[in-house]
Amino acid sequence: MAMTTRMPLIAGNWKMNLDHLQAVAFVQKLHWTLKDAGHDHSTVEVAVFPPFTDLRTVQTLLDADKIPFGLGAQDLSTHDSGAYTGEISGAFLSKLDARYVIIGHSERREYHAEGDDVVAAKVQAALRHGLVPVICVGETSDDLEKFGASAVPVAQLRAALEGVAADADIVVAYEPVWAIGSGQAATPDQAQDVCAKLRDVVAEVLDADAAARTRVLYGGSVKAANIAGFMREPDVDGALVGGASLLVDEFSSIIRFQKHVGV
Ligand code: PEP
Repeated sequence: MAMTTRMPLIAGNWKMNLDHLQAVAFVQKLHWTLKDAGHDHSTVEVAVFPPFTDLRTVQTLLDADKIPFGLGAQDLSTHDSGAYTGEISGAFLSKLDARYVIIGHSERREYHAEGDDVVAAKVQAALRHGLVPVICVGETSDDLEKFGASAVPVAQLRAALEGVAADADIVVAYEPVWAIGSGQAATPDQAQDVCAKLRDVVAEVLDADAAARTRVLYGGSVKAANIAGFMREPDVDGALVGGASLLVDEFSSIIRFQKHVGV
């Protein structure tokens, strides 16, 4: 496997929280907090995933104040344009300088009945428009009981990567559904085990170089108090953070995990 140093990514999924005015206040405060703490942006990448209605405002702020956060959307359409009321095209997200788009989050899979076929089509749509898909996979507590931790996420990732070119830029997020918003995170060992298996899937479906450079995140009840344990694991390259990404001090402590990890 080729040697690469993967830049850790701490990604904040705001879900349906913070309107565009609240988003401005939040991003400014987070930026100042990280600046005051002397955070070095060349060592950890920060990305925020606001609701669609905030994207233009946040993009303008990042641009005007030269705030080095990546911008991401929480979803996109499988289609590029046309009669799809309420849908958002990847083309529009690219025009807003969004770099990332979350695809296959368990809340989309559960509440919007998005199956593996829709997730795979959305991955293709993202790549068509130069966006980096953050492909979310994870097992429910039922799946965990029946099949163990890795079987479902591994199968979901295989399906999502169908037809993806080996040189594509993707991010994978292992998010056990039972850990999302529950306060009960996986252990670092469990996260490492599944993240390593997901990296093997990238190697098998794409190739060894893709596996070496692709960032695999853990998500599910990540907090300042547990991030260090995850980041010590060799196959965990960052975190997708929900609830804790809405609290400036907590999120900035997560971003500054190197203080606790000693790496
Ligand atoms: C998420 O929704 O992607 C998530 C990980 O949420 P939380 O951090 O709140 O568990």
